[in-house]
Amino acid sequence: MATIPVAIAGAPYDVRIEAGLLAKAGTHCRPFLRKDTVAIVTDEHVAARWRETVAASFAAEGIESRWLVLPAGESTKSWEQLARVIDWLLAQEVERKDNIVALGGGVIGDLTGFAAAIVKRGCGFIQIPTTLLAQVDSSVGGKTAINTPAGKNLVGAFHQPVLVLADPLSLDTLPARDVRAGYAEVVKYGLIDDAPFFEWCEANGHHLLAGEADAREYAIARSVAAKARIVAADEKETTGVRALLNLGHTFGHALEAETGFSDRLLHGEGVALGMALAARFSARQGLMNGQDAERVAAHIGAVGLPASLAALNLSCDGRRLADHMLHDKKMDAGTLPFLLLRGIGETFLAKDVDLGDVAAFLDDELARR
Ligand code: NAD
Ligand code: ZN
Repeated sequence: MATIPVAIAGAPYDVRIEAGLLAKAGTHCRPFLRKDTVAIVTDEHVAARWRETVAASFAAEGIESRWLVLPAGESTKSWEQLARVIDWLLAQEVERKDNIVALGGGVIGDLTGFAAAIVKRGCGFIQIPTTLLAQVDSSVGGKTAINTPAGKNLVGAFHQPVLVLADPLSLDTLPARDVRAGYAEVVKYGLIDDAPFFEWCEANGHHLLAGEADAREYAIARSVAAKARIVAADEKETTGVRALLNLGHTFGHALEAETGFSDRLLHGEGVALGMALAARFSARQGLMNGQDAERVAAHIGAVGLPASLAALNLSCDGRRLADHMLHDKKMDAGTLPFLLLRGIGETFLAKDVDLGDVAAFLDDELARR
Protein backbone atom coordinates (compact mmCIF):
# COMPACT_ATOMS: atom_id res chain seq x y z
CA MET A 1 0.00 0.00 0.00
CA ALA A 2 1.19 3.51 -0.81
CA THR A 3 0.44 6.17 1.80
CA ILE A 4 0.82 9.79 0.73
CA PRO A 5 0.63 12.41 3.49
CA VAL A 6 -1.11 15.67 2.63
CA ALA A 7 0.54 18.22 4.92
CA ILE A 8 -2.14 20.90 5.12
CA ALA A 9 -1.44 23.10 8.15
CA GLY A 10 -4.00 22.31 10.84
CA ALA A 11 -5.71 19.60 8.78
CA PRO A 12 -3.21 16.96 7.68
CA TYR A 13 -4.44 13.62 6.35
CA ASP A 14 -3.30 10.56 4.45
CA VAL A 15 -4.19 9.24 1.04
CA ARG A 16 -3.97 5.45 1.00
CA ILE A 17 -3.71 3.69 -2.34
CA GLU A 18 -3.99 -0.05 -2.80
CA ALA A 19 -5.76 -2.51 -5.06
CA GLY A 20 -8.58 -4.08 -3.05
CA LEU A 21 -9.00 -1.18 -0.62
CA LEU A 22 -12.79 -0.95 -1.13
CA ALA A 23 -13.13 -4.39 0.41
CA LYS A 24 -11.18 -3.14 3.43
CA ALA A 25 -12.83 0.28 3.67
CA GLY A 26 -14.43 -0.58 7.01
CA THR A 27 -11.10 -1.44 8.62
CA HIS A 28 -9.45 1.75 7.37
CA CYS A 29 -12.38 3.97 8.39
CA ARG A 30 -12.97 2.36 11.79
CA PRO A 31 -10.51 4.61 13.72
CA PHE A 32 -12.29 7.67 12.26
CA LEU A 33 -15.77 6.62 13.40
CA ARG A 34 -17.22 7.19 16.88
CA LYS A 35 -20.45 5.28 16.44
CA ASP A 36 -21.52 1.91 15.10
CA THR A 37 -23.24 3.51 12.10
CA VAL A 38 -21.79 5.41 9.15
CA ALA A 39 -23.51 7.65 6.59
CA ILE A 40 -22.37 6.98 3.03
CA VAL A 41 -23.32 9.13 0.02
CA THR A 42 -22.85 7.62 -3.43
CA ASP A 43 -24.44 7.53 -6.88
CA GLU A 44 -26.49 4.86 -8.59
CA HIS A 45 -23.69 3.59 -10.86
CA VAL A 46 -21.23 3.17 -8.03
CA ALA A 47 -23.86 1.66 -5.74
CA ALA A 48 -24.77 -0.94 -8.36
CA ARG A 49 -21.17 -2.14 -8.55
CA TRP A 50 -19.59 -1.49 -5.16
CA ARG A 51 -22.22 -1.02 -2.45
CA GLU A 52 -22.24 -4.66 -1.39
CA THR A 53 -18.45 -4.83 -1.12
CA VAL A 54 -18.21 -1.64 0.91
CA ALA A 55 -21.21 -2.41 3.13
CA ALA A 56 -19.75 -5.85 3.92
CA SER A 57 -16.41 -4.30 4.88
CA PHE A 58 -18.15 -2.05 7.42
CA ALA A 59 -20.38 -4.87 8.67
CA ALA A 60 -17.24 -6.92 9.34
CA GLU A 61 -16.19 -4.15 11.74
CA GLY A 62 -19.59 -4.12 13.43
CA ILE A 63 -20.59 -0.89 11.67
CA GLU A 64 -23.97 -0.52 10.03
CA SER A 65 -23.69 1.53 6.82
CA ARG A 66 -26.57 3.84 5.90
CA TRP A 67 -26.78 4.83 2.26
CA LEU A 68 -27.97 7.78 0.26
CA VAL A 69 -27.86 6.86 -3.43
CA LEU A 70 -28.10 9.85 -5.77
CA PRO A 71 -28.58 10.03 -9.54
CA ALA A 72 -25.31 9.81 -11.49
CA GLY A 73 -23.99 12.75 -13.48
CA GLU A 74 -22.81 16.32 -13.29
CA SER A 75 -26.37 17.65 -12.80
CA THR A 76 -26.32 16.11 -9.33
CA LYS A 77 -23.98 18.91 -8.18
CA SER A 78 -27.04 21.13 -7.68
CA TRP A 79 -28.81 23.11 -4.95
CA GLU A 80 -31.60 20.55 -5.03
CA GLN A 81 -29.36 17.54 -4.42
CA LEU A 82 -27.31 19.49 -1.87
CA ALA A 83 -30.49 20.13 0.12
CA ARG A 84 -31.35 16.46 -0.18
CA VAL A 85 -27.95 15.39 1.18
CA ILE A 86 -28.13 17.89 4.05
CA ASP A 87 -31.66 16.88 5.05
CA TRP A 88 -30.67 13.23 4.92
CA LEU A 89 -27.56 13.82 7.05
CA LEU A 90 -29.67 15.71 9.60
CA ALA A 91 -32.16 12.84 9.66
CA GLN A 92 -29.20 10.53 10.35
CA GLU A 93 -28.43 12.80 13.31
CA VAL A 94 -24.91 13.36 12.12
CA GLU A 95 -22.83 15.35 14.62
CA ARG A 96 -19.93 17.72 14.09
CA LYS A 97 -17.35 15.18 15.19
CA ASP A 98 -18.72 12.49 12.88
CA ASN A 99 -17.09 11.61 9.59
CA ILE A 100 -19.38 10.90 6.69
CA VAL A 101 -18.24 8.99 3.60
CA ALA A 102 -18.28 10.11 -0.04
CA LEU A 103 -18.04 7.05 -2.29
CA GLY A 104 -17.84 7.88 -6.00
CA GLY A 105 -16.34 10.16 -8.60
CA GLY A 106 -15.71 13.88 -8.44
CA VAL A 107 -19.41 14.68 -8.53
CA ILE A 108 -20.16 12.79 -5.32
CA GLY A 109 -16.91 13.95 -3.70
CA ASP A 110 -17.52 17.64 -4.46
CA LEU A 111 -21.19 17.56 -3.42
CA THR A 112 -20.75 15.47 -0.27
CA GLY A 113 -17.67 17.45 0.75
CA PHE A 114 -19.63 20.68 0.46
CA ALA A 115 -22.53 19.21 2.45
CA ALA A 116 -20.02 18.14 5.12
CA ALA A 117 -18.56 21.66 5.14
CA ILE A 118 -21.86 23.28 6.01
CA VAL A 119 -24.01 20.76 7.89
CA LYS A 120 -24.03 21.84 11.56
CA ARG A 121 -21.28 24.31 10.52
CA GLY A 122 -19.09 21.49 9.42
CA CYS A 123 -18.64 17.78 10.08
CA GLY A 124 -15.79 15.57 8.90
CA PHE A 125 -15.70 13.45 5.78
CA ILE A 126 -13.79 10.61 4.19
CA GLN A 127 -13.24 10.48 0.44
CA ILE A 128 -13.38 7.11 -1.28
CA PRO A 129 -12.85 8.11 -4.93
CA THR A 130 -13.86 5.58 -7.57
CA THR A 131 -12.90 7.33 -10.82
CA LEU A 132 -9.33 7.94 -11.96
CA LEU A 133 -10.05 11.68 -12.07
CA ALA A 134 -11.24 11.66 -8.48
CA GLN A 135 -8.34 9.47 -7.32
CA VAL A 136 -5.61 11.65 -8.83
CA ASP A 137 -7.26 15.04 -8.49
CA SER A 138 -10.62 15.93 -6.97
CA SER A 139 -10.50 13.84 -3.76
CA VAL A 140 -7.31 15.57 -2.62
CA GLY A 141 -6.95 19.23 -1.74
CA GLY A 142 -10.27 20.10 -0.14
CA LYS A 143 -12.07 21.98 -2.90
CA THR A 144 -15.77 21.22 -2.71
CA ALA A 145 -18.57 22.76 -4.75
CA ILE A 146 -21.86 22.61 -6.57
CA ASN A 147 -22.89 24.17 -9.89
CA THR A 148 -25.52 26.87 -10.32
CA PRO A 149 -27.30 28.12 -13.44
CA ALA A 150 -24.56 30.81 -13.63
CA GLY A 151 -21.78 28.27 -14.00
CA LYS A 152 -19.77 25.33 -12.72
CA ASN A 153 -18.33 25.16 -9.19
CA LEU A 154 -19.46 28.69 -8.35
CA VAL A 155 -20.66 27.83 -4.84
CA GLY A 156 -18.45 25.86 -2.52
CA ALA A 157 -15.96 25.76 0.30
CA PHE A 158 -12.47 24.62 1.14
CA HIS A 159 -13.00 21.63 3.39
CA GLN A 160 -10.34 18.95 3.72
CA PRO A 161 -11.24 15.28 4.16
CA VAL A 162 -9.81 13.38 7.15
CA LEU A 163 -8.81 10.38 5.02
CA VAL A 164 -8.75 9.38 1.34
CA LEU A 165 -8.91 5.75 0.21
CA ALA A 166 -8.13 5.14 -3.46
CA ASP A 167 -8.65 1.63 -4.82
CA PRO A 168 -7.26 1.18 -8.35
CA LEU A 169 -9.44 -1.96 -8.68
CA SER A 170 -12.54 0.23 -8.63
CA LEU A 171 -11.52 1.40 -12.11
CA ASP A 172 -12.30 -2.07 -13.47
CA THR A 173 -15.97 -1.11 -13.64
CA LEU A 174 -15.44 2.43 -14.93
CA PRO A 175 -16.10 2.95 -18.66
CA ALA A 176 -12.81 3.12 -20.63
CA ARG A 177 -13.62 6.61 -21.86
CA ASP A 178 -13.84 7.91 -18.27
CA VAL A 179 -10.55 6.22 -17.36
CA ARG A 180 -8.87 7.85 -20.35
CA ALA A 181 -10.32 11.25 -19.47
CA GLY A 182 -8.95 10.92 -15.93
CA TYR A 183 -5.57 10.00 -17.38
CA ALA A 184 -5.28 13.52 -18.80
CA GLU A 185 -4.93 14.82 -15.24
CA VAL A 186 -2.13 12.28 -14.65
CA VAL A 187 -0.19 13.57 -17.67
CA LYS A 188 -0.80 17.08 -16.32
CA TYR A 189 1.40 16.44 -13.27
CA GLY A 190 4.30 15.43 -15.52
CA LEU A 191 3.90 18.57 -17.58
CA ILE A 192 3.61 20.88 -14.56
CA ASP A 193 6.97 20.17 -12.93
CA ASP A 194 8.01 16.54 -13.32
CA ALA A 195 9.54 15.77 -16.74
CA PRO A 196 10.66 12.25 -15.68
CA PHE A 197 7.02 11.46 -14.85
CA PHE A 198 5.95 12.67 -18.30
CA GLU A 199 8.52 10.24 -19.75
CA TRP A 200 7.08 7.52 -17.51
CA CYS A 201 3.66 8.32 -18.99
CA GLU A 202 5.00 8.07 -22.53
CA ALA A 203 6.45 4.64 -21.73
CA ASN A 204 3.68 3.28 -19.47
CA GLY A 205 0.47 5.20 -20.10
CA HIS A 206 -0.93 2.46 -22.31
CA HIS A 207 -0.27 -0.14 -19.57
CA LEU A 208 -2.24 1.96 -17.12
CA LEU A 209 -5.10 2.35 -19.60
CA ALA A 210 -5.05 -1.41 -20.26
CA GLY A 211 -5.73 -1.90 -16.56
CA GLU A 212 -2.31 -3.04 -15.38
CA ALA A 213 -2.38 -2.91 -11.58
CA ASP A 214 1.20 -1.75 -10.94
CA ALA A 215 0.99 1.03 -13.52
CA ARG A 216 -2.28 2.27 -12.07
CA GLU A 217 -1.07 2.27 -8.50
CA TYR A 218 2.21 3.96 -9.42
CA ALA A 219 0.53 6.69 -11.46
CA ILE A 220 -2.09 7.39 -8.80
CA ALA A 221 0.53 7.59 -6.04
CA ARG A 222 2.83 9.86 -8.01
CA SER A 223 -0.06 12.10 -9.05
CA VAL A 224 -1.41 12.35 -5.51
CA ALA A 225 2.09 13.15 -4.22
CA ALA A 226 2.31 15.98 -6.76
CA LYS A 227 -1.11 17.34 -5.87
CA ALA A 228 -0.35 17.02 -2.15
CA ARG A 229 2.86 19.01 -2.57
CA ILE A 230 1.08 21.76 -4.49
CA VAL A 231 -1.95 22.13 -2.21
CA ALA A 232 0.18 22.00 0.94
CA ALA A 233 2.15 24.94 -0.47
CA ASP A 234 -0.95 26.95 -1.36
CA GLU A 235 -4.11 25.50 0.18
CA LYS A 236 -6.48 28.30 -0.84
CA GLU A 237 -4.94 29.35 -4.14
CA THR A 238 -3.56 32.62 -2.85
CA THR A 239 0.10 32.53 -3.93
CA GLY A 240 -0.30 31.21 -7.47
CA VAL A 241 1.29 27.80 -6.83
CA ARG A 242 -2.06 25.98 -6.75
CA ALA A 243 -2.99 27.68 -10.01
CA LEU A 244 -0.45 25.40 -11.74
CA LEU A 245 -3.07 22.65 -11.40
CA ASN A 246 -5.10 24.51 -14.00
CA LEU A 247 -2.69 23.70 -16.83
CA GLY A 248 -4.80 22.99 -19.91
CA HIS A 249 -7.95 24.09 -18.10
CA THR A 250 -8.39 27.58 -19.58
CA PHE A 251 -8.44 26.22 -23.13
CA GLY A 252 -10.29 23.14 -21.85
CA HIS A 253 -13.08 25.11 -20.17
CA ALA A 254 -13.60 27.19 -23.30
CA LEU A 255 -14.01 23.98 -25.29
CA GLU A 256 -16.32 22.48 -22.67
CA ALA A 257 -18.41 25.65 -22.76
CA GLU A 258 -18.56 25.62 -26.57
CA THR A 259 -19.66 21.97 -26.58
CA GLY A 260 -22.28 22.70 -23.91
CA PHE A 261 -20.58 20.77 -21.06
CA SER A 262 -21.92 17.61 -22.65
CA ASP A 263 -20.84 14.09 -23.52
CA ARG A 264 -19.34 15.53 -26.68
CA LEU A 265 -16.29 16.47 -24.66
CA LEU A 266 -15.63 15.13 -21.16
CA HIS A 267 -13.73 17.38 -18.74
CA GLY A 268 -10.54 15.33 -18.98
CA GLU A 269 -10.77 15.30 -22.77
CA GLY A 270 -11.00 19.09 -22.75
CA VAL A 271 -8.00 19.26 -20.43
CA ALA A 272 -6.01 16.90 -22.69
CA LEU A 273 -6.67 19.01 -25.74
CA GLY A 274 -6.17 22.14 -23.63
CA MET A 275 -2.68 20.96 -22.64
CA ALA A 276 -1.78 20.25 -26.26
CA LEU A 277 -2.99 23.75 -27.15
CA ALA A 278 -1.12 25.35 -24.24
CA ALA A 279 2.07 23.65 -25.43
CA ARG A 280 1.58 24.70 -29.05
CA PHE A 281 0.66 28.24 -28.06
CA SER A 282 3.77 28.39 -25.84
CA ALA A 283 5.89 27.28 -28.80
CA ARG A 284 4.27 29.88 -31.03
CA GLN A 285 5.10 32.57 -28.47
CA GLY A 286 8.71 31.42 -28.56
CA LEU A 287 8.61 30.16 -24.99
CA MET A 288 8.95 26.43 -25.61
CA ASN A 289 10.67 24.50 -28.35
CA GLY A 290 8.32 23.27 -31.06
CA GLN A 291 9.50 19.67 -30.91
CA ASP A 292 8.63 19.42 -27.23
CA ALA A 293 5.20 20.92 -27.90
CA GLU A 294 4.58 18.30 -30.58
CA ARG A 295 5.79 15.61 -28.18
CA VAL A 296 3.09 16.67 -25.71
CA ALA A 297 0.40 16.54 -28.39
CA ALA A 298 1.75 13.22 -29.71
CA HIS A 299 1.43 11.46 -26.35
CA ILE A 300 -2.06 12.82 -25.80
CA GLY A 301 -3.10 11.61 -29.25
CA ALA A 302 -1.33 8.25 -28.83
CA VAL A 303 -3.53 7.26 -25.88
CA GLY A 304 -6.72 8.18 -27.75
CA LEU A 305 -7.36 11.58 -26.20
CA PRO A 306 -8.17 14.54 -28.47
CA ALA A 307 -4.97 16.37 -29.43
CA SER A 308 -6.15 18.65 -32.20
CA LEU A 309 -8.95 21.18 -32.42
CA ALA A 310 -9.87 20.14 -35.92
CA ALA A 311 -10.99 16.74 -34.59
CA LEU A 312 -13.81 18.41 -32.64
CA ASN A 313 -15.56 19.73 -35.76
CA LEU A 314 -16.50 22.99 -34.10
CA SER A 315 -18.35 25.55 -36.13
CA CYS A 316 -17.07 28.58 -34.20
CA ASP A 317 -14.00 30.79 -34.63
CA GLY A 318 -11.08 31.53 -32.35
CA ARG A 319 -12.59 34.78 -31.07
CA ARG A 320 -15.66 32.96 -29.81
CA LEU A 321 -13.52 30.43 -27.93
CA ALA A 322 -11.41 33.24 -26.47
CA ASP A 323 -14.63 34.98 -25.37
CA HIS A 324 -15.57 31.91 -23.31
CA MET A 325 -12.31 32.45 -21.44
CA LEU A 326 -13.49 35.89 -20.35
CA HIS A 327 -16.16 34.17 -18.28
CA ASP A 328 -13.61 31.94 -16.57
CA LYS A 329 -13.93 32.20 -12.79
CA LYS A 330 -10.14 32.48 -12.58
CA MET A 331 -10.43 36.00 -14.05
CA ASP A 332 -8.61 38.37 -11.75
CA ALA A 333 -9.31 42.12 -12.03
CA GLY A 334 -9.95 41.84 -15.74
CA THR A 335 -6.90 39.77 -16.67
CA LEU A 336 -6.87 36.04 -17.18
CA PRO A 337 -3.92 34.17 -15.71
CA PHE A 338 -2.74 31.70 -18.33
CA LEU A 339 -0.63 28.62 -17.73
CA LEU A 340 2.07 28.22 -20.34
CA LEU A 341 5.16 26.06 -20.68
CA ARG A 342 8.84 26.81 -21.05
CA GLY A 343 9.37 23.09 -21.58
CA ILE A 344 8.02 19.72 -20.51
CA GLY A 345 7.83 19.88 -16.71
CA GLU A 346 8.22 23.68 -16.72
CA THR A 347 4.77 25.19 -16.42
CA PHE A 348 4.44 28.80 -15.29
CA LEU A 349 1.73 31.37 -14.73
CA ALA A 350 1.80 33.97 -17.49
CA LYS A 351 -0.06 37.15 -16.57
CA ASP A 352 0.31 39.18 -19.74
CA VAL A 353 -1.29 36.94 -22.35
CA ASP A 354 -3.18 38.88 -25.03
CA LEU A 355 -6.53 37.25 -25.77
CA GLY A 356 -6.24 38.55 -29.35
CA ASP A 357 -3.10 36.42 -29.79
CA VAL A 358 -4.95 33.47 -28.31
CA ALA A 359 -7.88 33.98 -30.72
CA ALA A 360 -5.54 34.19 -33.73
CA PHE A 361 -3.73 31.04 -32.61
CA LEU A 362 -7.05 29.21 -32.20
CA ASP A 363 -8.14 30.28 -35.70
CA ASP A 364 -4.99 28.67 -37.09
CA GLU A 365 -5.55 25.55 -35.01
CA LEU A 366 -9.17 25.30 -36.19
CA ALA A 367 -7.93 25.47 -39.78
CA ARG A 368 -5.32 22.71 -39.33
CA ARG A 369 -6.54 19.52 -40.92
P1 NAD B 1 -18.39 11.55 -12.07
O1 NAD B 1 -18.33 11.62 -10.60
O2 NAD B 1 -19.60 12.04 -12.73
O3 NAD B 1 -18.11 10.06 -12.53
C1 NAD B 1 -18.15 9.75 -13.91
C2 NAD B 1 -19.14 8.60 -14.17
O4 NAD B 1 -18.59 7.39 -13.68
C3 NAD B 1 -20.48 8.75 -13.46
O5 NAD B 1 -21.49 8.25 -14.29
C4 NAD B 1 -20.34 7.83 -12.24
O6 NAD B 1 -21.58 7.35 -11.80
C5 NAD B 1 -19.52 6.73 -12.80
N1 NAD B 1 -18.66 5.99 -11.87
C6 NAD B 1 -17.90 6.48 -10.88
N2 NAD B 1 -17.13 5.52 -10.37
C7 NAD B 1 -17.42 4.39 -11.05
C8 NAD B 1 -16.94 3.06 -10.99
N3 NAD B 1 -15.94 2.71 -10.17
N4 NAD B 1 -17.48 2.15 -11.83
C9 NAD B 1 -18.45 2.52 -12.70
N5 NAD B 1 -18.93 3.75 -12.83
C10 NAD B 1 -18.41 4.67 -12.00
O7 NAD B 1 -17.17 12.35 -12.74
P2 NAD B 1 -15.63 12.53 -12.40
O8 NAD B 1 -14.96 12.64 -13.70
O9 NAD B 1 -15.13 11.54 -11.39
O10 NAD B 1 -15.61 13.95 -11.66
C11 NAD B 1 -15.96 15.13 -12.34
C12 NAD B 1 -16.28 16.19 -11.32
O11 NAD B 1 -15.13 16.43 -10.51
C13 NAD B 1 -16.68 17.52 -11.91
O12 NAD B 1 -17.85 17.96 -11.29
C14 NAD B 1 -15.51 18.44 -11.56
O13 NAD B 1 -15.92 19.77 -11.37
C15 NAD B 1 -15.01 17.83 -10.30
N6 NAD B 1 -13.61 18.12 -10.01
C16 NAD B 1 -13.30 18.61 -8.78
C17 NAD B 1 -11.98 18.88 -8.44
C18 NAD B 1 -11.65 19.34 -7.06
O14 NAD B 1 -10.50 19.73 -6.80
N7 NAD B 1 -12.61 19.31 -6.15
C19 NAD B 1 -10.95 18.66 -9.35
C20 NAD B 1 -11.29 18.16 -10.61
C21 NAD B 1 -12.62 17.89 -10.92
ZN1 ZN C 1 -9.42 19.08 -14.21
